[in-house]
Amino acid sequence: MGSGIITTSYIIASVLFILSLGGLSSQESARRGNIYGILGMAIALIATISSAQVTGYAIIAVATTLGGIAGIIVALRVRMTSMPELVAILHSFVGLAAVLVGFSSYLDPGASHTGIEKTIHETEVCLGVLIGAVTFTGSVIAFGKLRALIGSKPVCIKGRHYLNLTAALVCIWLGFVFVGAESTAAGVISLTIMTLIAFGFGVHMVMAIGGADMPVVISMLNSYSGWAAAATGFMLGNDLLIIAGALVGSSGAILSYIMCRAMNRRLINVIAGGFGEAPSSSSSCEVSGEVVAASVEETAELLKESKSVVIVPGYGMAVAQAQHMVSVLTKKLTDRGVRIRFGIHPVAGRMPGHMNVLLAEAKIPYDIVLEMDEINDDLKDTDVSLVIGANDIVNPSALDDPASPIAGMPVLQVWRSKTVIVMKRSMAAGYAGVENPLFFKENTRMLFGDAKETLDSVIQHINNS
Ligand code: NDP
Repeated sequence: MGSGIITTSYIIASVLFILSLGGLSSQESARRGNIYGILGMAIALIATISSAQVTGYAIIAVATTLGGIAGIIVALRVRMTSMPELVAILHSFVGLAAVLVGFSSYLDPGASHTGIEKTIHETEVCLGVLIGAVTFTGSVIAFGKLRALIGSKPVCIKGRHYLNLTAALVCIWLGFVFVGAESTAAGVISLTIMTLIAFGFGVHMVMAIGGADMPVVISMLNSYSGWAAAATGFMLGNDLLIIAGALVGSSGAILSYIMCRAMNRRLINVIAGGFGEAPSSSSSCEVSGEVVAASVEETAELLKESKSVVIVPGYGMAVAQAQHMVSVLTKKLTDRGVRIRFGIHPVAGRMPGHMNVLLAEAKIPYDIVLEMDEINDDLKDTDVSLVIGANDIVNPSALDDPASPIAGMPVLQVWRSKTVIVMKRSMAAGYAGVENPLFFKENTRMLFGDAKETLDSVIQHINNS
């Protein structure tokens, strides 16, 4: 393929990537956005493989076949609730690729950079390897935390900010040593030491972050992986990779900012690893009161008699795959004249937009699905808040207990409604591992059981009455 056609293909692919991001910004256009993205990536792959620089077709065929098969198997098997882990491990691949490309591009015997070109190339290698190494180990730890292979509690080493600062300064110094190195051997040594420090920084950064703050980390690692890809594009002289990487990097950065605002956190604290001070192990907020269980019959009667109900779904709804039952219940109650709305917390579930995707899949109308800020003030005028498999996102200790690991995180204030029904299987804590005083409040009733089965029983009771 001639270079003109390749450039044109890259421009078309870039436009498709931008359209894809635009499409993904709303549920109605998300499918279209995905199709644009797939088309853009297909064009990018074909154009890159057809360029004159690419010669090792046998290796590419083997790698593409193996990678493609592995990708298809994983994508077919992965459950919706495991998507964040998959995304985390995919980010780690991007980071590792940036590290490997950096080393191979530095050691490439065919490279003939001299003077300022050499300095620029080595700076690209240094930045690409640095960002890639942090992304790689950070994402592996994020994967471990999301898969519960590593505990979700933050591991905060004393003086960690000084440690981070020292690591950053040493990396900058090693970067200068690398770019000014007289021989390739000296360059490799400084680059390797810098890579090892960056690996350590990635581990330290994510280990210091508590369970409830993981959404911010995921979106931040998403952004890092984009910048790592852009740096790889610079090293390889591939314009499309630079554009695609910058798109992922900047959209991930915007998502991190939105997540930080939603969680009431400061972005700089995330980048430095760990949020503020390490949370105290003992909470100052005593959990008092009695747990009152509700029966299916009581719940059905209460819902039927209500004028307004707000449903707050959480991770448990995704685990139980209860969204279709929620849809049936919504229809039944709406037909009886009950006003139903949904309150969605920005970090409900295990990935951004998790609840919106599930509710859209169950064909719940978008106009009754409201964000936390839109519904919180209305909760005091609500008859029943029905909490389905949610825990951390409705935990009042985030507001009342400054020593809580989730202190400062805005939550859905369901306890302000007349009655709260909480559907879950037990008294177990949520992802952040924090006890929930909501379950002990006077106006709370616990409806224990699997969300899907219990909703089915509630619907049957409404049908029969
Ligand atoms: P939580 O994880 O806090 O709580 C979910 C609750 O669902 C559990 O307490 C569990 O209780 C219950 N549950 C599990 N299975 C079922 C079932 N089959 N039927 C009924 N209930 C069930 O979820 P939230 O959505 O409230 O909060 C999300 C948490 O995840 C936050 O801490 C957030 O920061 C974190 N997170 C979010 C990410 C995102 O991007 N959205 C990414 C990573 C982490 P029980 O076992 O008793 O049934």
